[in-house]
Amino acid sequence: SPHQTADVHELLIATLVMLHGKFPAGIKLVKEFDRGLPKIPAYAAELNQVWTNLIDNAIGAMGETGTLTVRTGRVDDRIFVEVADTGPGIPAEIRPRIFEPFFTTKPVGEGTGLGLDISHRIVVRHHGEIRVESAPGDTRFRVYLPITG
Ligand code: ADP
Ligand code: MG
Repeated sequence: SPHQTADVHELLIATLVMLHGKFPAGIKLVKEFDRGLPKIPAYAAELNQVWTNLIDNAIGAMGETGTLTVRTGRVDDRIFVEVADTGPGIPAEIRPRIFEPFFTTKPVGEGTGLGLDISHRIVVRHHGEIRVESAPGDTRFRVYLPITG
């Protein structure tokens, strides 16, 4: 387990500040943070990479307009960070493959297909889990992370 702890909201804000310049003007950002979350064992730079990948995918899926929602919360002994978008969703036939290395539906040169593979490996290193729910107009990637190491 990571032996350093981090405030997940500090990490999220750092990532959002860094990415904000890349948001198209028609993308609305909504933050629904559960303010009572405890610190968690974390490799901060790695978790920032996870949020960056999920937000980058969400923005890419929506195009010029939509709503990006970043939610946090706690369930039992885990916290979660959810990145939700109002894009077209993930077709059922590709859903089983999205975490595979080099799997991408983006044009050559635009996607490496490594974002979710790397994110998944980082989350596993934190003893966490990533879950996806997707329907047209409502796609949610939720990262669960344990509160204790
Ligand atoms: P890349 O972004 O380079 O394509 P990723 O591993 O980040 O690679 O994502 C793999 C694929 O998963 C994407 O090409 C896309 O088809 C799908 N995907 C990921 N996130 C979303 C999302 N929020 N909405 C729709 N499809 C998504
Ligand atoms: Mg990506």
